[in-house]
Amino acid sequence: MGRAYCQVGVATFTLNAVNIGTFPLGEADRIVVLFSRERGLHRAVAKGARKPGSKMAGKSEPLTINRYLLAQGKSLDIVTQCETLESFPMLRRDLERLTYALYFAELSQVFGQELSEDAANYFEKLSLAIGFMADGEKAPALQCLEFELLVLGMLGLSPELTFCVGCRETAVDRNIAAFNYELGGVVCQNCLKRLRKGENEHGQVPMVAEVQAREGRLVSVFLTPMVWRQLILAKTASQASADLQNLGEAEDFASSSGGFTREDGQAATRLAQALRLMLGYIEYKSGRRMRSLEVLSTL
Ligand SMILES: [Zn+2]
Repeated sequence: MGRAYCQVGVATFTLNAVNIGTFPLGEADRIVVLFSRERGLHRAVAKGARKPGSKMAGKSEPLTINRYLLAQGKSLDIVTQCETLESFPMLRRDLERLTYALYFAELSQVFGQELSEDAANYFEKLSLAIGFMADGEKAPALQCLEFELLVLGMLGLSPELTFCVGCRETAVDRNIAAFNYELGGVVCQNCLKRLRKGENEHGQVPMVAEVQAREGRLVSVFLTPMVWRQLILAKTASQASADLQNLGEAEDFASSSGGFTREDGQAATRLAQALRLMLGYIEYKSGRRMRSLEVLSTL
């Protein structure tokens, strides 16, 4: 679109896309994994991108937003032109924030196919989230939790936090017991006992027991009222951002409705627990081990 690139017999097209990953190809080329506004998840070859001094090298870095001109190839399309729209230099000076942003890219790869159904919307959300992470105005872990919840919402996997997924009783501080990955929500004390029995005896709740046996993982994880509240706050903020089309406004909303500040040590612990819980849920639902955040434990 708009560019005069013409070679007889070769169809070209433009994509505005976030680079969400790269793989080496052959001696000097790179496969770039893109999430584009126009087509969602898309792979293409960046020829010569691994040659020293190649002008494609910097442009094909993950988390860069580019406007690509692609030539349709037999199996993979070829990048013929690439104009960088955003490279987020601030992000690359803060390893913690960079790690979270790379996790956003990993999420985009893992769920890219499903998210492509709403490509333009997700492209906006992802671009905003990376930019917001780069700006550094908000605790990165909290922003990460909100982004996870936004992605889960778009996938139709939003965790149920208002009532028990076992008996439908309203969730309150005194009856909350756990979060169940298979059922995707909170479970009360009674239901947890029932589920655990089923999980152990492979009888009462066969589906959960089967999954647990197959995956070798816990399906229900304990949930404290404080972590539950943290999840509700983050989910509310992520829904607000989905409605407002603007993560900045959502942040204002979250802080006005009692969001935690970075200085609050207890809040940091709750946040870490909530993040771990949602990471487990995402890994469970995707059947994939998410790797990006592992770096954080070494910082
Ligand atoms: Zn229940």
